[in-house]
Amino acid sequence: MIDAVSLRGVEYKWNGRDAFALSVGALQIPRNERLLLLGPSGSGKSTLLSLLTGVVVAQAGSLEILGQRLDALGSSGRDRFRAEHFGIIFQMFNLLPYGTVIDNVLLPLSFAPARRTRATAAGGAEGEARRLLSALGLPADIGRRRATTLSVGQQQRVATARALIGSPEIIVADEPTSALDDDRQQDFLDLLLGQIDATKATLIMVSHDRRLARHFTKVVELTDILATSQREAAAT
Ligand code: ADP
Ligand code: MG
Repeated sequence: MIDAVSLRGVEYKWNGRDAFALSVGALQIPRNERLLLLGPSGSGKSTLLSLLTGVVVAQAGSLEILGQRLDALGSSGRDRFRAEHFGIIFQMFNLLPYGTVIDNVLLPLSFAPARRTRATAAGGAEGEARRLLSALGLPADIGRRRATTLSVGQQQRVATARALIGSPEIIVADEPTSALDDDRQQDFLDLLLGQIDATKATLIMVSHDRRLARHFTKVVELTDILATSQREAAAT
């Protein structure tokens, strides 16, 4: 089976910022893996997720997602590819403040025809949005509320429903539990992992919190996948 992620020799520098460089030797993520990527703040976890999702393109190396080389796509091609194949839970959730909860959950379907088709087949896109919100433990009447009126924990679940709708192959989560206390972290992870199991998605979560490790099928330290030269530099 084609891997979710196949990355080799990738190097990336943010434009105009020479102080930070990410140089990853190799990263292979099979389909259906639940991967936790650990690293301290500032180590490049979010940068790596931006590379994997094609928000930015590496200056060197090769990166295939579901067998597709991202550098073979232009910027709008990568936008379409990302919308279709990734559900993304951002650290700050990035909900549309003026939209309702349902608007927010349905948003990715506007850019992802295959996800729209799957969501529609599952009982209508809006019905599917309501089913996910309820499966994530949100009250039935939440759909019409504005995203800005929700608690942090509720916003996070709405962001999760938005990532899951239409069953994209890969769910990416950038420190989604960092704003929650321990009990709520646990509840949230149980709900998220339950949904991931149901859709057979690949999960890539990044965090600085190694206590999350037991929930995952694989745990990778960012420092362990850095190219040898960068690992030596980091150790000095
Ligand atoms: P982490 O997610 O592990 O905390 P990041 O990937 O956010 O680490 O950051 C790694 C480095 O890249 C930091 O030095 C950070 O300042 C820099 N960086 C992150 N995002 C951007 C950006 N959009 N533009 C320029 N530099 C960035
Ligand atoms: Mg980050």
